[in-house]
Amino acid sequence: MNAQEKIETYCHKLRLPYIRDHYKTEIDNAVKAKLTFHDFLHDILKGQILERIDNTINRSIKSAGFNSIKRLEEFDFSFQPQIDEKRIRELGNLQFIEDKQNIVFLGPPGVGKTHLATSLGVKACQEQLKVSFFTVQNIITELKIAQATNQLVKLMRKLTKVDLLIIDELGYMKLDSISATLFFQLISHRYEKGSIIITSNKQPDQWGKVFNDDVIATAILDRVFHHCHHFIITGKSYRMKNIKVHDPEKQNK
Ligand code: ADP
Ligand code: MG
Repeated sequence: MNAQEKIETYCHKLRLPYIRDHYKTEIDNAVKAKLTFHDFLHDILKGQILERIDNTINRSIKSAGFNSIKRLEEFDFSFQPQIDEKRIRELGNLQFIEDKQNIVFLGPPGVGKTHLATSLGVKACQEQLKVSFFTVQNIITELKIAQATNQLVKLMRKLTKVDLLIIDELGYMKLDSISATLFFQLISHRYEKGSIIITSNKQPDQWGKVFNDDVIATAILDRVFHHCHHFIITGKSYRMKNIKVHDPEKQNK
């Protein structure tokens, strides 16, 4: 084995893929920039660390189960001026997760509820926190399967342990009584133990209809809204932004 092959083998054994793939260019750069041995070693180790952090973040974004990746920087606050941008940006510092507070985004379809919830989740992943994203439909399915297979306690424990649980699209589907009870159990388990972000197209006074049970809905609302930042978004749908609606009144003017 020549020196080059040995370096590559050692890197492989030590799991240093960044160094294996970049040491030649790093050496060239070090020679050109007349780096000291110290600086060279520092730079190449830093490259390896950054790559490892990047991989961890990508893995945690993947395992969170987002429907699509959205970032706060991509959110056009000028399109939705009633959203308090400063409050959202403050939530971006993720103190709410440390403080085990909840966030609720309420509003009609297309106003950016899922986008905002996802982008806070992605930020949490970037800080190497554990995030799980579910639609209501998916989480109910998981809970029902777990119940049917005697795994409910285990699943509840898992869902209680994540740093941030995002539950998207509450209100699109009416829940039967088993689903409503399971949902209540989940909320109770996480109450004051971990943050939840909920998005809903239904205002809280409609949740009784969503859960088909006023008592359960009140118990859920009580716990969710106890330590909670909530946003009522009333603007236009971003999905319809470029769709021109024919307005005969305007045409006649
Ligand atoms: P909701 O969950 O309220 O129905 P979404 O968050 O899914 O709406 O938004 C619908 C689409 O429009 C998504 O692709 C989202 O990224 C985009 N979107 C919504 N609001 C904005 C905004 N203010 N700026 C940029 N993109 C937006
Ligand atoms: Mg949505």
